[in-house]
This record gives sequence, C-alpha cells and structure tokens, in this order.
Amino acid sequence: MAYRRRNGHDTWHYCRNCTLWPTSDYKEQSTKPTTGELCNQCRSKDSAGTCTK
Ligand SMILES: [Zn+2]
Repeated sequence: MAYRRRNGHDTWHYCRNCTLWPTSDYKEQSTKPTTGELCNQCRSKDSAGTCTK
C-alpha cells in the first residue's frame, strides 16, 4: 500500500481511484504518514469499500 502526496500539499492519498490521486510531481512512501492529513475522499472510499489500493 502506497501513500502519495503532491509536492507542496499536505494531504496524503492512498486510493489509486481517488480523483485527486497524484500522478506527477508527488512524493510516495509505503508507511503511514506521520505528518499532514489523509484525504477525505480516500477515507470515505475506504470506509465504503471502494478504495483501490
Ligand atoms: Zn485521495
């Protein structure tokens, strides 16, 4: 599972089907981020079971 954050932004995404999933100019890490925030859309997809990880 990967977390991505667009450079210059504090929001981390972890669903590849998130409409805001960064595809360029991003930072990626495999561990849960300890700084910034998790994307609300990713969180709602996760709880709805529609998050593609
Ligand atoms: Zn997201």
